[in-house]
Amino acid sequence: MKYAIPALPVTAIPVVGGDPFPVRRIYCVGRNYAAHAREMGSDPTREDPFFFMKPADAIVPNNSVMPYPPQTKNLHHEIELVVALKSGGADIAVAKANDCIFGYAVGLDMTRRDLQGQARDKGRPWDMGKGFDHSAPCTAIHPVSKTGIVAKGAIWLKVNGKERQKGDIQDLIWNIPETINYLSGLVELAAGDLIYTGTPEGVAAVVKGDLLEGYVEGVDTLKITIG
Ligand code: MN
Repeated sequence: MKYAIPALPVTAIPVVGGDPFPVRRIYCVGRNYAAHAREMGSDPTREDPFFFMKPADAIVPNNSVMPYPPQTKNLHHEIELVVALKSGGADIAVAKANDCIFGYAVGLDMTRRDLQGQARDKGRPWDMGKGFDHSAPCTAIHPVSKTGIVAKGAIWLKVNGKERQKGDIQDLIWNIPETINYLSGLVELAAGDLIYTGTPEGVAAVVKGDLLEGYVEGVDTLKITIG
């Protein structure tokens, strides 16, 4: 196929023990841990989940530098378990949802909190607060054949060696099968999709030079420097 401009390169993430994983879409779940919902000023009763997106090319590989983005004075970290899909569909049943999982990774939903807050206050979209360039650092993907289904385990983030966020995957308000079920009722999911599943409490700002180390038990450790 000949195109008017050069075709875009595929964003791909390394896979432990296999070929790279091509990224189709990045979905993110908002306020999916009760203590984080409270710190963001929301009532953590089990309201329906909500979602936002990041562009696929926002991925930043592990052990690299994320450039400090423009137009913000309040860049926040959100450490999250990331689910990578090998198949999809619409209206995926909760009982079938785990069959769609290719593997897991550790990701950061980096957020221009000041821009997100301004958008929220004005009833405007979050995109420029959430879906900006380099906003989605992510480790390699670990196939579910190696990890097993991840439904519990520690998740934490340290900045310059000091703990900022800590939680447990089992405290997700909407667990992973429920999230896949709900999201697939809104959009048709497909192989190559990533889901950032939400962050525990303790989100805060980072500055240039900070080293972020994020961990999910049984998955991986993510190390990103803010440049
Ligand atoms: Mn998040």
